[in-house]
Amino acid sequence: MTSPANDVVARLLELSALGRYDGGIDRGLATPPERAARERFAYWARRAGFTLSQDVVGNLFARRSGMHDVAPIVVGSHLDTVRTGGAYDGAYGVVGALCALQILDRDKCVTTRPVEAVAWAGEEGSRFPLGCLGSSVFAGLTSEGDALALRDNDGISLNAALQSRESGSLPDVPVRPRQETAAYLELHVEQGPVLEAAGVSLGVVTAIAAQRRYRAIVKGASGHAGTVPMERRSDALCGAADIVLAVEREARSSAGAVATVGHVKVEPNGTNIIPLRVSLSVDIRSSEDARVEHIERALQTVIAETERRRGVQIALERLEVRAAAPMDARLRAALHRSCAAIGQPALDITSGAGHDATCLSRVAPAAMLFVPSVGGVSHIGAERTEDRDLELGVAVLAAAIIEVDRDLGQN
Ligand SMILES: [Zn+2]
Repeated sequence: MTSPANDVVARLLELSALGRYDGGIDRGLATPPERAARERFAYWARRAGFTLSQDVVGNLFARRSGMHDVAPIVVGSHLDTVRTGGAYDGAYGVVGALCALQILDRDKCVTTRPVEAVAWAGEEGSRFPLGCLGSSVFAGLTSEGDALALRDNDGISLNAALQSRESGSLPDVPVRPRQETAAYLELHVEQGPVLEAAGVSLGVVTAIAAQRRYRAIVKGASGHAGTVPMERRSDALCGAADIVLAVEREARSSAGAVATVGHVKVEPNGTNIIPLRVSLSVDIRSSEDARVEHIERALQTVIAETERRRGVQIALERLEVRAAAPMDARLRAALHRSCAAIGQPALDITSGAGHDATCLSRVAPAAMLFVPSVGGVSHIGAERTEDRDLELGVAVLAAAIIEVDRDLGQN
């Protein structure tokens, strides 16, 4: 039997063809395949009788009316992908939101508030250099002007890309009037191994992790690999290795924290040359801000000690600071009730990955529901979630919208 919950599988399959290549799915914001994904969303929304609107940065909304024209419950995620993306990260939450609205229709459910399914623009930051672009503008954390002025690697601005006929805003879709958000719910694949390992199909997110990103530059002295005695060396790569291992050690000793050095560049990078300069990335995350701060302080201590001991110079530059985003207790309770109502246990889980819900949580109560990722993998073409879990997530989301609508009332 087909129901809106089954539709989620077929629609995700349809979207997965857009931007597909050997390495996965590449659907950067305001590219032709991403625009095609917005067209599909618009087509499904129109066919279901929902009202479409968009804003200047490309966020796209499908609205199902409520009894009163008050602040809506907003439900959604993103349609863009990383350059080697899969079919579920983001797209699931957008299609799932639309299907949840259609379940309300099927069940002739009248909500007090309007409910909007939203496709946020550019969550991944894979084309324009700002993550959660659309939701950040929506929440007032980034100005429209700053967002539109962002340029991709080819020097094309977001503004220009959104004016283009092949990749830009949808014609005939009116501008969304500004309105407060009563509550925000986001359905997403976990992108990690926790739910699968626990044998549970649903996760209620307690908090989205705090995250800090850095670039460390280690400068040493170059020289001939055969002639400079060991005691006279200031090897930049050995200094960098001290940092890499310290990052791992500090995260391991701080419960729930994770830290990664994922990018290293060695200069001159020759087999018989002592490394002169090493640039490395550091990424630290935890659901508690204090733990991230603690690891940063420990890293600074290690850096000072490494400089002294090895005669290298190390500069640590903070590139990004994101505070932890605790999810709203009332909405989490509503999600748990909705899971319990269909006899499915749900696990409380923290999100190590950033999401649009981080931005929305600054302006409205926000919460997230996770479904398992097979093998715990994501951001690759092979990422996958079982059909049964996809359908379950949508059913719970629809039930949660009703719970939240009741809970909030009209005021
Ligand atoms: Zn995502």
